[in-house]
Amino acid sequence: MKRKLSENLKRIHERIGAAAEASGRDPNAIRFIAVTKTVEMDVIRHLVHLGLTDLGESRVQQLVKRNGMLNEFLARQRRRSEGKPVAAPNWHMIGTLQRNKIKHLLGHVNMLHSVDNLRLAEDLESQLARRDESLDVLLEVNASGEKVKAGVAVGAVEHIIEHLRVLPHVRLCGLMTLAPLTKDERVLRGVFARLREIFEDLTTHHQVGPEFQHLSMGMSNDFEEAILEGATIVRLGTALFDGISAEASSADATDR
Ligand SMILES: *Cc1c(COP(=O)(O)O)cnc(C)c1O
Repeated sequence: MKRKLSENLKRIHERIGAAAEASGRDPNAIRFIAVTKTVEMDVIRHLVHLGLTDLGESRVQQLVKRNGMLNEFLARQRRRSEGKPVAAPNWHMIGTLQRNKIKHLLGHVNMLHSVDNLRLAEDLESQLARRDESLDVLLEVNASGEKVKAGVAVGAVEHIIEHLRVLPHVRLCGLMTLAPLTKDERVLRGVFARLREIFEDLTTHHQVGPEFQHLSMGMSNDFEEAILEGATIVRLGTALFDGISAEASSADATDR
């Protein structure tokens, strides 16, 4: 598992580097989130040791549980002074968040990528205020206009931003989208370009603060197209964990 993971990681860095270069951007300005929803804890622990600290999950329960397990593991290691100290993980919630789950999530998450309606934002605001905390969030936009997609409609973005920008504990840091499932490069780039245009429009018209900096777009299937169109965050699962089965990883766990 470890060797395969290092190989996949190296390949991803090369591909991010090439796409960044092709678009005249600094590869270090592109953050990559390891989406761990399909792998076991031992794979996650290893990722953190490799220095990957941006981790993403799409379900609240799993994110909270894994954050707890990982922190316990890291604390135990610190007590025993084993290995080199590793940075604490940053958890990204990338799936749809239901309002009744907010209370479980807060305190475990560093960035929420999926704010897609005002009531969610308002509930976040009141619970964050009570905790005296703020949270980095992205507005999820349905940039492709597909009917079944999560995210706010392109035409509603400006209206929602008007309301979001006045919530003091909800820090609006950018936009997120999911592209359609296609290999058609033109379609993919069109969707990502649309999100970037909305982003630029909001920035130019000063509707957002200086923390509004991120475009979270691009997954295993389409991250190069996303980078070419300005992604600052890509979210990768399959490309990173290719060839790492759940079985192989639990076998690894027992021989350690
Ligand atoms: C699962 C998931 C990803 C990662 O997808 P891959 O195709 O495995 O890279 C990215 N973003 C979201 C919102 C996801 O749910």
